[in-house]
Amino acid sequence: MASLRDLSVYRTAFFSALLLLRACTHALHSGTRGYRLAQAMHITTRVGVAAKERDVAVKWIKRCLREITRKEHELPVDYATARSDITVTLKHAGHRSSACAKGVNIDLAAYLRQSSALSEYPAFAHDRVIGSRANLTPELVLAATIAHEISHFVQYRYGPDTRWLMNRYRKPHGEGFQDIYRILRSQVVNPYFTH
Ligand SMILES: [Zn+2]
Repeated sequence: MASLRDLSVYRTAFFSALLLLRACTHALHSGTRGYRLAQAMHITTRVGVAAKERDVAVKWIKRCLREITRKEHELPVDYATARSDITVTLKHAGHRSSACAKGVNIDLAAYLRQSSALSEYPAFAHDRVIGSRANLTPELVLAATIAHEISHFVQYRYGPDTRWLMNRYRKPHGEGFQDIYRILRSQVVNPYFTH
């Protein structure tokens, strides 16, 4: 017959086994390929960028990528792949934001200054959908800036392999760019405008 001491040993062993099982289940989840793929986005934050600002920027980057990779837009990638393709750098150096085939470089200085004016490229500044806007919330100015830079990333990264972009993606603010940006402004950013 088991003594009281034996019972306590069994109980300890039982709970250790339970803990181990939980740890294994956790490892299995974080180790699956789909999980890692979905999480993969290379983000570099330069000195002084707070986690809160980073999260706002990443939220809009994800919204833009999710929209532009919808099947109807015929890009040669899905959302998970685009997320792992893009390199994101967040800073507030007071420079302009920029982008290339590797990714986007977003300057959060205007957002921190609580800027309410979205100033677009002269060629389409007066366009009703993709043009400049005044009296926006700082977050929506940032959202439009991100949509603009994501459009550059998409034109250079996927333009050559996208049927409706391959012949007109090259010019930095040309037709191809404007078509991509029009999708992102009308579907992702502008619905949040109140005027
Ligand atoms: Zn641009």
